[in-house]
Amino acid sequence: MKGKFPVERFQTLRTPFYYYDTELLRQTLQAINAETSRHTNWHVHYAVKANANPKLLRIIREAGLGADCVSGGEIEVSLKTGFQSSKIVFAGVGKSDWEINLGLDSDIFCFNVESIPELEVINELAQAKGKVARVAFRLNPNVGAHTHANITTGLAENKFGIAMRDMIPVIEHAAQLKHVQVVGLHFHIGSQILDMGDFQALCNRINELQDELERHRIRLEHINVGGGLGVDYEHPNRLPIPDFKAYFDTYAKKLKLRPGQSLHFELGRAVVAQCGSLLTRTLYIKKGAVKQFAIVDAGFTDLIRPALYQAYHKIENISSDEATECYDVVGPICESTDVFAKQIDLNATHRGDLLAIRSAGAYGEIMASQYNCRRLPLGYTSDDLL
Ligand SMILES: *Cc1c(COP(=O)(O)O)cnc(C)c1O
Repeated sequence: MKGKFPVERFQTLRTPFYYYDTELLRQTLQAINAETSRHTNWHVHYAVKANANPKLLRIIREAGLGADCVSGGEIEVSLKTGFQSSKIVFAGVGKSDWEINLGLDSDIFCFNVESIPELEVINELAQAKGKVARVAFRLNPNVGAHTHANITTGLAENKFGIAMRDMIPVIEHAAQLKHVQVVGLHFHIGSQILDMGDFQALCNRINELQDELERHRIRLEHINVGGGLGVDYEHPNRLPIPDFKAYFDTYAKKLKLRPGQSLHFELGRAVVAQCGSLLTRTLYIKKGAVKQFAIVDAGFTDLIRPALYQAYHKIENISSDEATECYDVVGPICESTDVFAKQIDLNATHRGDLLAIRSAGAYGEIMASQYNCRRLPLGYTSDDLL
């Protein structure tokens, strides 16, 4: 063992691979339930897009969470894992007809609708089945999350959601349609948000919108505030469980729910990021004129976040206790963006050493590709390796 890794058990496994600490995942889910279970009208849906590994999904379902899906494939995976259809919400700007039909056939809890044309298609497809679809309008609250520009979603310029000024007209329009029933409002302002002020700004905006609804005598059963809570990529050992108390307290204190209204959350990253690491083997140490490179067998096909968002992941050499040296850690793919970290300190690293790229449980394995005809990484849980 080094840290929490069963290094001996790793030796025979083909690298690169993902390793998930299920004990940490269970503790994380317990921390979520500890904060939310006393509110009987609060519901947490896991954002399946963060990681759809079936073993993790099963643990998340067993903890009682619902599923937040953004594709028909995610609905299929969620149903297969045993998530109740009454706990499935379905979002996305571009839902295909087959995906809407699947949602209708499975009687999912709610479609989070992002445009009028989509609303009309849902109405038509529901009519063909003699059903009434529950829908919530995803509103763009124009609340800027202080995070990477590629992962903000709640600004007026983003493609997501319906403008706030259109809220009353779209609800009134939907009231004319016989095969949709408006049950709520949906929001999601972005990802990797650590400033509770951003969630507070969302609460204030929802409070204003609810006042406006009241002036029009519109009552909605559900408010869905999306997800977005971030994790500490710098300190995965010190802070393995996100500050769910601060997050949920913000909503408890700042959001004014109407009597009987229920509140829905859609957390992805905060649930699974810290329990996962990408394990990769060092192939070569290449000493250049000014720096040295640790060339590893994982690349951005296995974990794309550093290349896509300049994301930081802490890296540890779990095979070495030698004094640290400075390295650029790079992958084998024929693209200059295939870099995991620059100028970082690692215990002196040699060919064959295993490196753990930490906090990789969210938007890691699920975003893997076969570019360069590479094999997809496998995923093991700590239960698999007992
Ligand atoms: C991606 C997404 C989430 C989850 O975001 P995290 O930052 O992983 O918590 C929730 N809701 C919607 C609609 C999403 O698209």
